[in-house]
Amino acid sequence: MARVGGGRLAGMVTAVAKKTEKPLVRLRTRGAGEALLLSEVLAFRRRLMQWYEEHARVLPWRGVSDPYRTWVSEIMLQQTRVAAVIEHYHAFLAKFPTLVSLSLAPEASVLAAWSGLGYYRRARMLHKAAQFIVRELGGVLPGNSIDLKTLPGIGEYTGAAIASISFGESIAVVDGNVERVLLRVTGRPYVSTAAGKKFVHEQAQALVPKKKLSVGVNAAGDHNQAMMELGATVCLPKGPLCGACPVYGLCETKGEHGSAPRTMQRSLPASYLLSLRKRGTVTEVLLSRRSAEVSLMAGMLELPPLPETVVAGREPLLRLRHAITNTNYYVQVFAARGLKDKKMLQAVLAEPEQLEWVRTSRLASHPLTGLARKSLQRLDVMEVRKVRMEGIERALAVEVSPAAFEDGLELDDY
Ligand code: SF4
Repeated sequence: MARVGGGRLAGMVTAVAKKTEKPLVRLRTRGAGEALLLSEVLAFRRRLMQWYEEHARVLPWRGVSDPYRTWVSEIMLQQTRVAAVIEHYHAFLAKFPTLVSLSLAPEASVLAAWSGLGYYRRARMLHKAAQFIVRELGGVLPGNSIDLKTLPGIGEYTGAAIASISFGESIAVVDGNVERVLLRVTGRPYVSTAAGKKFVHEQAQALVPKKKLSVGVNAAGDHNQAMMELGATVCLPKGPLCGACPVYGLCETKGEHGSAPRTMQRSLPASYLLSLRKRGTVTEVLLSRRSAEVSLMAGMLELPPLPETVVAGREPLLRLRHAITNTNYYVQVFAARGLKDKKMLQAVLAEPEQLEWVRTSRLASHPLTGLARKSLQRLDVMEVRKVRMEGIERALAVEVSPAAFEDGLELDDY
């Protein structure tokens, strides 16, 4: 501790302090809702990284040195559960191991590999960006956030994530998890205004280490991943695990706080037809290709949709709920009662040229909508792929909260 002065001076200070009854040296403390002090920033970083080194989940995109792989994982993780991403990450990279191989693939093949992840516009943008990089940039992914953001499908969040994780840029990554941690630590209520967002971004940026990437150390990238990990596994939206939190001593809230208001859920029914036929030893299923003109899931294959009027009174083969953002779809799948069931077959909401028979053994190579894939798997028409889950049990238990979704994506999962 710094000494105020020698013995004689100390005696004078004591005498003056007694006279005025006010402390002469007051340590600055932080009020609720204020930014972290410099000493707290340093302590926060240190405690966070110690915790991360011990508790980080083993995830297949951690520790990879190929920026292409980091890019693919970051795009997949937008609005998607970690467990679902793991399954598709391995399969996608097995099919498209390099940026060049992705750029050369037909779009239908990319969408097929993406099937089940939803938000298909991400896959289209990823594909377009790969083609642009190969055509215009010599096949090399840009190495900084500013240039990355000029690519299709890469916005503030994704650009910062790739730049810090792959290239060590000292730039903050702010997703829903990071925002929640920072609001709770600083004791600031959730505000959706520009000023509220600016505060969070400034606080996040203040915490990112300034050191550049050096051999074996990526301070900024590791810090950003640790922040997101803390929000995803400890500082949970409901029931945060404060007892296990490395920054408990710095946190103003120590518990839940007012969060963004949730949009009201709505419910809609949706009915589909399952029609199978045998051709020798081959089984085929009738699917409907969505128009190339529609804004959602253009060109993808789904079970032929049916109007609700024609299914009244019939017993479905399958009932399931399919939630998309603020809508719960109560889905029913019906089988035609043989080829004579003209009423149902003629009621299909698709033009004849949209309908096609697809071999059930080849379904995985077609661009199916997420709902079609889920329905066909539940009905045992399509094989369920095994998910490689070694060492990530905790990932299953924790839903990753939505990443900042500012990259111009549309909600096109279905
Ligand atoms: S102490 Fe609790 S509320 Fe605060 S950051 Fe940690 S987990 Fe979140």
